[in-house]
Amino acid sequence: MIPGQFEYVRPGDLDETLRILTEREGEAKLLSGGYSLLPLIKLRLAQPALLVDLRDVAGLDGIAETDDHLRIGGRATHRQIHEAPIVRERYPLLHDVTATIGDPQVRNWGTIGGSVAHADPASDWPAVLLATSATIVCRSQSGERLVAARDFFLDTFTTAIEPTEVLTEVRIPRRPRGAGGSYQKLERKVGDFATVAVAAVIRLDADGIIAGGGIGLTGVAETPFAATDAEALLTGAPSEELFRRVGAAAAAQSRPAGDVRGPIEYKRAMAAEMTVRALRVALQRAVANA
Ligand SMILES: Cc1cc2nc3c(=O)[nH]c(=O)nc-3n(C[C@H](O)[C@H](O)[C@H](O)COP(=O)(O)OP(=O)(O)OC[C@H]3O[C@@H](n4cnc5c(N)ncnc54)[C@H](O)[C@@H]3O)c2cc1C
Repeated sequence: MIPGQFEYVRPGDLDETLRILTEREGEAKLLSGGYSLLPLIKLRLAQPALLVDLRDVAGLDGIAETDDHLRIGGRATHRQIHEAPIVRERYPLLHDVTATIGDPQVRNWGTIGGSVAHADPASDWPAVLLATSATIVCRSQSGERLVAARDFFLDTFTTAIEPTEVLTEVRIPRRPRGAGGSYQKLERKVGDFATVAVAAVIRLDADGIIAGGGIGLTGVAETPFAATDAEALLTGAPSEELFRRVGAAAAAQSRPAGDVRGPIEYKRAMAAEMTVRALRVALQRAVANA
């Protein structure tokens, strides 16, 4: 597999990157880890005239908590996020997801920004960003634009990011007391993309009653989606019966396609089951964090 010809530049900072993207709009593609883009170029499914490598752009890989959110730079690799002390200690949902993406090589190179901008319908990060109601920060020469994750994933491999923008960071709301989350992924074998995976967040009030939460699914629609019908049911005293009803609503909202990972009926049944499993673990973590 021989790629077509392309130019390659390695800008030294974000301003230079944004200037190139504006000047070469429609021709340029950002290169982050390269783990999704390079295979596409080799297969000639993508044929950009110019690759703009982000590796020398400083300031895009930080991971830090602010007063109201956890900030993750767009160039942070899955591994950096997995190993960040703040993630290990305070964000088990993020620790779950970064353990399941691909294999160690993919996690060493692949970045959150590349994953989110690529928007594979079975990729892992989008479900988490939907369940947590995260915000995606896009920068262009005109300034910064904040896009809610729930408005970001438009269709298969299609997002709200513009060709002149760099995804500079994602902001995940700070985990409040009484909240817990979990990511449960069904895969055919270790390292595979999800057959179906579910990110669930539960928020408990002071009496241990569910006051709300978030549910994001991947692998079972043309794009990862927030199971809003299921979220609407996620309230009241926690019980297995409630979780089953929420799981059924999430499955009803899914639109899986039959493929090598299984037929439609199987995927829908697994969407319900994985939702229940994610809710059970999220509840345990919410109780432990009360
Ligand atoms: C064998 C294999 C297994 C994998 N398994 C999984 C898996 O189980 N789960 C999963 O979720 N993913 C999986 N992946 C995908 C992996 O996580 C990729 O790393 C990720 O999808 C893309 O990240 P990247 O940094 O490599 O992006 P790139 O490949 O460099 O870029 C991908 C796209 O995003 C754009 N882009 C990159 N960075 C930015 C930015 N900061 N701002 C705007 N646009 C940007 C690029 O222009 C390109 O269009 C797998 C990949 C491989 C090769």
